[in-house]
Amino acid sequence: MSKYVDKVLADVKAKNPNEPEFIQAVDEVLTTLDPVLKSNPQYEKNAILERMVEPERVIIFRVPWVDDKGIVRVNRGYRIQMNSAIGPYKGGLRFDPTVNLGVLKFLAFEQVFKNSLTTLPMGGGKGGSDFNPKVSPHTPGKRCSDAEVMRFCQSFMTELFRHIGPDTDVPAGDMNVGGREIGYMFGQYKRLANEWTGVLTGKGLSFGGSLIRPEATGYGDVYFAENMLAMRGETLEGKRCVISGSGNVASFAAEKLMQLGAKVLTLSDRSGAIYCEGGITEKMLKDIMVLKNVKRGELSDFAKKTKAVKFFAGKNSWQLADKVDAAFPCARQNELDGKDATYLLKHGCTLVGEGANMPSTPDAIAAFVKAKIMYSPGKASNAGGVATSGLEMSQNSERLSWTREEVDAKLKGIMKSIHDNAWEAAAKYGDKGNYVMGANIAGFTKVADAMVAQGVC
Ligand code: NAP
Repeated sequence: MSKYVDKVLADVKAKNPNEPEFIQAVDEVLTTLDPVLKSNPQYEKNAILERMVEPERVIIFRVPWVDDKGIVRVNRGYRIQMNSAIGPYKGGLRFDPTVNLGVLKFLAFEQVFKNSLTTLPMGGGKGGSDFNPKVSPHTPGKRCSDAEVMRFCQSFMTELFRHIGPDTDVPAGDMNVGGREIGYMFGQYKRLANEWTGVLTGKGLSFGGSLIRPEATGYGDVYFAENMLAMRGETLEGKRCVISGSGNVASFAAEKLMQLGAKVLTLSDRSGAIYCEGGITEKMLKDIMVLKNVKRGELSDFAKKTKAVKFFAGKNSWQLADKVDAAFPCARQNELDGKDATYLLKHGCTLVGEGANMPSTPDAIAAFVKAKIMYSPGKASNAGGVATSGLEMSQNSERLSWTREEVDAKLKGIMKSIHDNAWEAAAKYGDKGNYVMGANIAGFTKVADAMVAQGVC
């Protein structure tokens, strides 16, 4: 590692000692950039790394709301505006008790590179709250009611609205923020700003949403995998796949894998994992989507009613199948560790396509890179979601709606460009097939060049 990278990493660790996820994400990127820093001394001269690891702006605010029992609750809201060198800040909002400054800074940092890779003009940001819509604050075993979620979202947007805008910062959904939450927040933004603009993406179809946006991250992850396989003359047909999660990204990754003839063996959630040796069917997946998104239930409920699946309480998806061809981590950060990676490699896995952000721990990444399997980091393979958000912004600006086929074709094209750019960057800097290095370098270079051109700001 160069002295420059060493120094910046040491500073990041010293300045952010309580933010392990942020340090992990910065470490993962910076340690792959040596070759590009060496051949471009202007980056060090312009302190590009030092500036990239410091958010342009961090907003932290109080979110007071009233629950169904009339009790006042207070959560903490955040928006990290990380980097706007190549476009307005763009990135999701996450509502989860695990949300804190370090987690959101890691996500915002990743988002800068991901958005750059999409080839669209979008900077990077991320936000959210420690609000937990899945746990009622007053009734054990229940979730927050729709009315409580609405009041929370309205209060959250009452502060956030003054910091965002279609040319400033355009948030979207993330964990626990889906169509319902985006709808409530959009409604409140419209009231406060007195204007109808594409200020959020992931909107409902009747008010400016894009077809394929809900599917885009999961579908894009699978399109990226198809591109990696094509380099080796293979396809997904007949591949045995394990997936984690059963939310937005996981369910649409599963749907696309099935459409392409792969066998989906597992899904998971906070209750545990399901395993189906014959392959989860399209009908089962539909039922799971209704269970998770409409009835807001758990996979353990599904397993009780479905004989063809086995349920493993509290387990993840990685060590359930005797033979695996491909793994798609689609739930959360650091959910696949070194032991899981060793198991997957030993049981035949030659492809890992990350749908979640930073789901593999550093140990696991090292094992995949060493084994030279097809391993795509989330910032490349889950970029289909934000890319389609970019397409939603274009449709809103033009007051147009593209067809499903048009958006899907653009998504496929973008995933191929991301793949090819990562592939070419890795090859150019001497490590052919290393998508971690390739994605980091390709994402970094565009942002770094824009920052150099814009002067010290
Ligand atoms: P989601 O719809 O909320 O789904 C998250 C899934 O992960 C759920 O099945 C959830 O289980 C599971 N999960 C969360 N925490 C867990 C834990 N501690 N243990 C076990 N399972 C857990 O979120 P999503 O939008 O699919 O996002 C998933 C990942 O993809 C995140 O890393 C997100 O940042 C990333 N991502 C999302 C998008 C997007 O467009 N949505 C785009 C790019 C990247 P429960 O159902 O039990 O909560």
